[in-house]
Amino acid sequence: MAVQVTLIPGDGIGPSISAATVRILEAAGADIAWDTQVAGMAAVAKFGDPIPDATLASIKRTGVALKGPLETPVGEGFRSINVALRKTFDLYANVRPAYSIVPGGRYKDLDIVMIRENTEGLYIGIEHYIKIGDDPRAAAESVALITRHGSERICRYAFEYAVVHKRRKVTLVHKANVLKFSQGLFLDSGRALAKEYAGRVEFEERIVDAMAMSLVLSPERFDVIVTTNLFGDILSDQISGLVGGLGLAPGANIGLHGAIFEAVHGTAPDIAGKGIANPGALILAGSMLLDHLGQPDRALRVRRALEGVIKEGRTVTRDLGGTASTDEFTDAIIARL
Ligand code: NAD
Repeated sequence: MAVQVTLIPGDGIGPSISAATVRILEAAGADIAWDTQVAGMAAVAKFGDPIPDATLASIKRTGVALKGPLETPVGEGFRSINVALRKTFDLYANVRPAYSIVPGGRYKDLDIVMIRENTEGLYIGIEHYIKIGDDPRAAAESVALITRHGSERICRYAFEYAVVHKRRKVTLVHKANVLKFSQGLFLDSGRALAKEYAGRVEFEERIVDAMAMSLVLSPERFDVIVTTNLFGDILSDQISGLVGGLGLAPGANIGLHGAIFEAVHGTAPDIAGKGIANPGALILAGSMLLDHLGQPDRALRVRRALEGVIKEGRTVTRDLGGTASTDEFTDAIIARL
């Protein structure tokens, strides 16, 4: 029986790269019944709300979604899309795999998975100004909340990911030398789990500043990386730069009550409607979705077909140095499938 999956085509280039991804997953034999819902500006136009209740209800029902990029409306009175999704479904793990596909890139043979804590740290939104004398905004304070529960579950996710995907090593990235309490708690949680997984998964620790340098000098040394929210945000973009940029960077938000697969990039307003966007990142996110649904053979076929078209280099989009349209690139992948 077909698996139900919520599809949110998104804004800007979203509808065209979503259509491309759906075609490819279907060509790979994925048995999915899509429940199409709106979010972002498309939802504001239709319902006056960027994340309508019907969309949340659909994800609650299916437990899994493929999401195109969304434009977050500027201005007060709108719910933040990402916060609503993360809170509703407790999407605590942000998983971003990055591996070398494009030939002739600066780095060869990279295969790194960044696992970022998605719900805690400096991004929880506890911030306020402090009045001193006459100045109501003389200082500002942001709280970085780290809990043992949050640290343990993301570190366990990273070790389990390593075991399931036959990965060699987990590198925990922190700044516990300075932030001894919050980052120290995260590091302690990782160290305790490392003992539990000893003999199955190697473990190492890196201070975030040194890690940023190592990722540029010798990124091939890294395998699975786990870190807190802010560091993960920064390092995952750095890592996507190492393998050729945003056009090939997928991401998954995984939680206890749902999983949402997306491209890391945004709506690309500068090229929206021109039919030239690279659907690669969302296709790779679609492949992660197939893995999640327990269809690893189809997931691998999708990745191999995409890699084949990119390596051949004849029918690729402009960001990859070619002249192909979104549809031509998609057709070439389907032909390989
Ligand atoms: P962006 O990622 O949309 O674009 C950055 C640059 O990369 C642009 O030059 C764009 O043309 C190019 N680019 C991005 N994706 C591409 C693709 N698939 N193929 C070819 N070129 C591509 O970032 P931005 O311009 O900072 O943001 C635009 C909008 O997207 C904003 O409203 C932002 O809030 C939103 N956004 C949404 C998400 C999301 O929904 N997950 C993520 C990031 C940004």
